[in-house]
Amino acid sequence: MSWESSAIYYQLINRAVRVELGGLESAPIILHSLNFAEIASLQRMSDWDKLAEILSKAARGLQDLGAEYIAICTNTMHKVASEVQNSVSVPLIDIRDCTGKALQQDGIQTVSLFGTLYTMQDSFYTDYLLREWGIRTVAPYVVSQQQIHSIIFDELCKGDVKPESGVLISKLVEELVSSDVDAVVLACTELMMLFHEVPCSLPVYDTTTIHANTISSIALKLEASQLNK
Ligand code: GLU
Repeated sequence: MSWESSAIYYQLINRAVRVELGGLESAPIILHSLNFAEIASLQRMSDWDKLAEILSKAARGLQDLGAEYIAICTNTMHKVASEVQNSVSVPLIDIRDCTGKALQQDGIQTVSLFGTLYTMQDSFYTDYLLREWGIRTVAPYVVSQQQIHSIIFDELCKGDVKPESGVLISKLVEELVSSDVDAVVLACTELMMLFHEVPCSLPVYDTTTIHANTISSIALKLEASQLNK
């Protein structure tokens, strides 16, 4: 939901379409970019009703402009995914489903989620992964959770990519190696900004890439169906 990760989504989706179709092809996208300062402040105040209202209004606006699918480009705001889905008739491409499916396909059963405190501590992500995809989650240590949360909000959402934070995150991954965790899920769309050069002993699943890949395949299918008309 910070524009830093929205920009990554935009690039990943359009590049995937170009790789598939070549030439000057790109994905038709209607982007509603919100003021993240307002969103983050409502998150801190736990005003999830207001956040659901803002996102639902944005989703309706996109639908009115002709969007055939909607994606919320953040993990955290999936806390209000059902309210957003209920406010539109077009399908919401839920990041939790894309992630759960990718994990299940690889036979991953237990993961540790790295994300905002809302994503790591509330049940909307962990319960959903278990209920819909049979994936168990183990939370990082509480101190680690605080560190991850501040790297997200104090650095990455402001475009500040510090190599030492990458080293710290990879250290947190290494701490999990002897636990019964099969993989780590970067359940925050900005975390991959740190992961380009971080070596890890556990498999790491990046929700931004997984979500963007699903969105681009849907865009390609829509494109193909338009051509067949
Ligand atoms: N984009 C982040 C996420 O995937 C965090 C920022 C937000 O609160 O939306 O959770």
